[in-house]
Amino acid sequence: ATRLYLVASIPLAAAVLVAGVVAMTALRAPRPRGGAALAAAGTALIAAGIAGLAATLCYGLPAVLGWCGVAAAVGVLTLALGAPFTDRMAARPDESETMRTGLAVPVFAVMSIAVASIYTMSTNGPLDTVSVVVGLIDGVALLARQSLAVYDARRANARLAQSEAQWRDLAHTDPLTGLANRRELLRVLYERAVGGPSCVLLALDLDGFKNINDMRGHDVGDAVLVEVGHRLRAHLRDGDLAARLGGDEFAVLMWIRAAEATRVARRLLDILGKPYVQAKGTVFLSTSIGIAGCRTATTVPGLLRNADLALRHAKQRGKARVEQYDAHYDAMLRRRTTVEQELRGAIERDELYLAFQPVVALPSVRPVGAEALLRWQHPELGPIAPTEFIPVAEEAGLVGRLDLWVLHQACHQLSRWLADGHDVWVSVNVSVRELHAPDYVAQVAEVLRAHRVPAQRLVLEVTEHAVATDVEQLVGRLGELRDSGVRVALDDFGAGYSSLLQLHRLPVDILKIDRGLLVEPPLEPTGTAAPLVDVAVRLGQRLGLSVIAEGVEEVAQRRLLEDAGCPYAQGMLFGRAMPAEHVEAMLAAAAPRPAALPAAPPRALPQKPPRRAHNVGPVDSGREMRQA
Ligand code: C2E
Ligand code: CA
Ligand code: CA
Repeated sequence: ATRLYLVASIPLAAAVLVAGVVAMTALRAPRPRGGAALAAAGTALIAAGIAGLAATLCYGLPAVLGWCGVAAAVGVLTLALGAPFTDRMAARPDESETMRTGLAVPVFAVMSIAVASIYTMSTNGPLDTVSVVVGLIDGVALLARQSLAVYDARRANARLAQSEAQWRDLAHTDPLTGLANRRELLRVLYERAVGGPSCVLLALDLDGFKNINDMRGHDVGDAVLVEVGHRLRAHLRDGDLAARLGGDEFAVLMWIRAAEATRVARRLLDILGKPYVQAKGTVFLSTSIGIAGCRTATTVPGLLRNADLALRHAKQRGKARVEQYDAHYDAMLRRRTTVEQELRGAIERDELYLAFQPVVALPSVRPVGAEALLRWQHPELGPIAPTEFIPVAEEAGLVGRLDLWVLHQACHQLSRWLADGHDVWVSVNVSVRELHAPDYVAQVAEVLRAHRVPAQRLVLEVTEHAVATDVEQLVGRLGELRDSGVRVALDDFGAGYSSLLQLHRLPVDILKIDRGLLVEPPLEPTGTAAPLVDVAVRLGQRLGLSVIAEGVEEVAQRRLLEDAGCPYAQGMLFGRAMPAEHVEAMLAAAAPRPAALPAAPPRALPQKPPRRAHNVGPVDSGREMRQA
């Protein structure tokens, strides 16, 4: 009986042991655990059955043999039922657990070999050599195999952890600059910024970066972005976060008070404004920065929006500057949205009209031409200035339609004046974006044809600051226009950024000197010409261009211009922008003396402008416009 208990206790102990291990594994398995329980029970039964079978075979106990066989068979069946689950478990092992239990498994096996040996020795006397050797080989092989498996698993785990860390980094880093990306900025903002300690969010944008990409190539653009990343990183304090949000947009989160932020932002403006020395030449760039204190918003999207609004404001106020968010930007943004929406139907609702500002010859003050200026009278919003709606139209892609409408109206008016025998030209302002439209030259020719206006009577004004962007294409387009006989004026000269070199290369006929150069105080109080106007007039003449001084308001200014030898002027002193009939009256008053056009450009024109009146016949401008 003792022997029977002893024999029965071996499979029983093995079953309990295995059941324990399996139960622990099953308990740690993800829910639902029904399958795991089945598999565990099955494994325990098989272990107990096989151990029992071995024991009964050794000790010749046929009575227990059948039960052990049944137990093993039931175990196989139960395991099969739970098997689909064990596959799932294997698919997502808990690495650290695998490693901790990894060496425990062979220890059990080795221990059971030892227990079996001790028992055998206690009952049957000392073991024979073969059993010892076999037992040793078994134990060592088992240990070695398991150690190798654990070692492999550890290595694989380390690799996995490393690549996971890399992926995590990548997911939060901008690959080009190594700064944080938008996701990481958002994460930090959500965790710490809104409602937390005082902080500010800076939104940065490189001015005119697109041109660098377009004209110098993307590798130069990328190199500049990388350098911006370096400079930002080098000048931040610990804890500040710099991120690239995409393209040339950056953001910096700083843990300072809003009052300090402007000073810090100005310093960044200086640092980022230093030349970017590249292998392919040096790049000059300025930056615009918008600042929003974290307290200006109660949500993260609100904070981002405020910083962005401040940035837009900085851009609109002339770039290369810092602006703090202000609650009235919201009102401005709403107004801008309203203006954009209303502008879409303004032509159809007949709310637009043209005013004409006379251009006079100096010193005679005889009107020789007129600039067409767009006016918008909205039934509810009242008059809206072109300085407000033209930039909106440009941004919304509406300016092309507006400029075409202006061209039609201006040419219509011009054709009437010419029909009435006035010797006059008309200029219209052209948005440079329009000039880049592929069919622009053909469009102008078509309008001139429709209104039967000689090309020489039309002047197209392009602003200098717009010209500063893509010169190459512009040179070609302006050249085509001039070949068609239309004259081109460079507007606002002296107010923007264009270089003398560009001025020399641009095929223009007329230089319009910005009023900013006029209000420059003279160096000496003796009343000599304000030096800048003088220089600009001489420059224009040296380049063979006609020169028109803009914004003349005072008699003293007119004298300065006359002293400088400026041939044409425009401004309130001679007449504000006015209805066409008023210009007509001025023209009529100045007649019948023959009027002169601005001096012909040195480059030969295809046709001489007709000096006498010619019959243009009736023109239906509205119909022409609709056809266009
Ligand atoms: P701009 O081409 O430089 O036009 C001259 C601006 O100076 C006009 O303002 C004119 O009214 C104003 N001005 C004239 N004389 C004086 C003066 O003695 N003193 C001062 N302080 N200002 C004077 P306006 O009409 O508000 O036009 C502003 C700008 O809007 C224009 O500047 C032009 O760039 C743009 N613009 C106007 N009409 C059109 C258009 O039809 N198409 C496009 N694309 N832009 C237009
Ligand atoms: Ca103009
Ligand atoms: Ca101007």
